[in-house]
Amino acid sequence: MSSGKDLDAVLEQLEKEGVPLHRFVERVGNKNLAVLLRRRFLERKLGVSLSSVGSTIIDFEEVEGRNIENAIGATQIPLAVVGPLRVEGEYARGDFYVPMATTEGALVAGVNRGAKAITLSGGARCRVVRDGMTRAPLFRLPSVADAVEFVRWVETSFSEIKKAAESTTRFGKLVRVEPYIMGNLVWLRFVYTTGDAMGMNMATIATDAACRYILEKYPGSVTLVALSGNMCVDKKPAHINALLGRGKTVIAEALIPSHVLEKVFRARAEDIHRVNVEKNLLGSSYAGSLSFNAHFANIIAAIFIATGQDVAQVVESSMGWTSTEVRDSGSLYIAVTLPSLEVGTVGGGTQLPTQREALSIMGVAGSGNPPGTNARKLAEIIAATVLAGELNLLAALARNELASAHAKARRGELAASRRG
Ligand code: NAP
Repeated sequence: MSSGKDLDAVLEQLEKEGVPLHRFVERVGNKNLAVLLRRRFLERKLGVSLSSVGSTIIDFEEVEGRNIENAIGATQIPLAVVGPLRVEGEYARGDFYVPMATTEGALVAGVNRGAKAITLSGGARCRVVRDGMTRAPLFRLPSVADAVEFVRWVETSFSEIKKAAESTTRFGKLVRVEPYIMGNLVWLRFVYTTGDAMGMNMATIATDAACRYILEKYPGSVTLVALSGNMCVDKKPAHINALLGRGKTVIAEALIPSHVLEKVFRARAEDIHRVNVEKNLLGSSYAGSLSFNAHFANIIAAIFIATGQDVAQVVESSMGWTSTEVRDSGSLYIAVTLPSLEVGTVGGGTQLPTQREALSIMGVAGSGNPPGTNARKLAEIIAATVLAGELNLLAALARNELASAHAKARRGELAASRRG
């Protein structure tokens, strides 16, 4: 399309024919052109300029229909790194730079300060202690007796159900099926390992195949109410994910000596520990929260955006606990436990260009060798970064520095004061 005039002529024809925005691509046969035309349509109709939205390196031939529909361009969010952050995990070992995309001033500077203290203290020790993506279809039976009978049949048929589920994927493996009965209703919570994928599509497609097998072979009367029965639980805060895990259950811990606490934060272990107990534990329990931490969500959201994770899963991925102890000679033991961290290095938004580069900064873009090791490495790095964020914020609160850091960031002085 050579000029704005040509573009407007095509647009006028589409408008005349009443072609809806989402059908532009069918008419012009090119996804990038359809994006341009939609944007132009909005500019003309609303009298706004969308030149910034249009400034993107995304090739919509690759993305539209896979990651988005009705695209008009891209949103840009500033990207930073924290680090070096030393991680002593089972999969992640070494000093890492961690990409974070955010518009919250003072966040990156704060996490970076926590990373410095952790690295000076020998690093964050991390372990993935559980791994499994879930999908929980809901079935209706005539009575509770039938529900119990159905669950028994599912248990004895596990290997056939597993075969049906795994026929849909090379990487998804059905680990177990957890039954939950309420009256005449049965939820079957399917748990899969999903290689390097976060696994939600994979688990959904596999569970669909398993349900088809169940409905075909079960000798009694059973109805599938819904492929997802909300016991999974995806994108909703839920105690079942905190208790049983979803995605990766990962823990990071560090021992920060008193001289590092003094040098980096001018704070004492006793004061940080007290803030943790009284704010994160007592405050959260009084509020009826499912999360006993200071700000896991800040770090999780920024890394999720940077690396193409499903951002709505920040809901359950940022649940978890921060625990602290004062140890010998005034050192601080600090740990973060994330029961439900849902991350992948293949699939979904991880293949978009900036997101893939962000993953490559941590050496986790694409498939791991063996499959699954990249996703677990990413989970360990994220947990270590969350630990850095918690340590820094608790220390800032113990020193009553929180408001002043944000006031400086608001005035744009934070970077200058850190240089000074
Ligand atoms: P996916 O892109 O649907 O599946 C991963 C793909 O990568 C599969 O085709 C898999 O092969 C392949 N693959 C190649 N190398 C792999 C490796 N080393 N490990 C694992 N897989 C590998 O990704 P997903 O993680 O399952 O789903 C993520 C997407 O689901 C996101 O876009 C998210 O927004 C969306 N989502 C879906 C639902 C839902 O209910 N469907 C809910 C929430 C989010 P195989 O085909 O052989 O498995």
